[in-house]
Amino acid sequence: MLLDIRNLITRFSTPEGEVRAVNDVSLQVESGQCVGVVGESGSGKTQVFISVMGLLAKNGRAEGEVYFDGSQILGMKTIELNSLRGVEFSMIFQDPMTSLNPYLRISKQMTEVLVEHRGITEKQAAGKSIEMLDLVGIPDAKKRFRMYPHEFSGGMRQRAMIAMALLCEPKLLIADEPTTALDVTVQAQILELIAGLGKELNMATVLITHDLGVIAGLSDRVAVMYGGRVVEEASVNELFKKPQHPYSRGLLDSMPRLDNSSERALHAIAGQPPDLQALPKGCSFEPRCDYAMERCRDEMPELREAGEKRMKSCHLEKMP
Ligand code: SF4
Repeated sequence: MLLDIRNLITRFSTPEGEVRAVNDVSLQVESGQCVGVVGESGSGKTQVFISVMGLLAKNGRAEGEVYFDGSQILGMKTIELNSLRGVEFSMIFQDPMTSLNPYLRISKQMTEVLVEHRGITEKQAAGKSIEMLDLVGIPDAKKRFRMYPHEFSGGMRQRAMIAMALLCEPKLLIADEPTTALDVTVQAQILELIAGLGKELNMATVLITHDLGVIAGLSDRVAVMYGGRVVEEASVNELFKKPQHPYSRGLLDSMPRLDNSSERALHAIAGQPPDLQALPKGCSFEPRCDYAMERCRDEMPELREAGEKRMKSCHLEKMP
């Protein structure tokens, strides 16, 4: 197993009290696999991977176990993590400027990483960087290599950020809503690019998104998160065919479908996500769930097996 997250808990101390952002999440990613992590904003999906990367804000703390390629990385010293981040695993964000320095030419930013982590010469690093810009579909890569990030369009900046994240050929790429700010056509191109590069380079990819639609056809497996927990995990095909958790069903129902196979009417999930400072004793989806029973209010449903290679956290035996 390449990435093995076990019982991860992430808390933030705030003046208003403790925010329980991630509540006992376990998730595995195999080499070369593409896993989608889906949920509304505030579901904890980003904080799981911020914790994994050791990039939590100062008021945050993470507990549990995270193994990368067999080594425990949660709580590792910054100096040790720095030798892995961007080299063994990389994370890209919605805003490319989180990763790109606006005051430095792309050439400087890319070659520096390679010279430092791979111990190659400036010239070799330049050659490899241009190759990578080419691979992510930046036209005239040799010329653009010398430019500043502000001279790139939004889509090109996103591609440059992906090229930077891939420079050291990491075993794992985590992409957090990398396309939300882009127009729909560019979004599709970038996601296909990430998933395609994953297969080409045998790199595992995690696509974090609020939109179930964007991972259809790209991911192998999907984990649906709600209230800081994984509430369903399955292969993408199984999840789309027959969701086993009412929240996953709600996400699918709120997604426009191109085919006519679904007779369900398109509707958004009513209600608000739970308050992470005051999570209920029972199921956190209960106030929004059409299938809620008395038991749901008092008893937290454990994540349990729900068929071959699928898990769900719901008291319902079967979705009606
Ligand atoms: Fe709905 Fe109950 Fe299942 Fe929660 S446990 S999703 S409230 S049926």
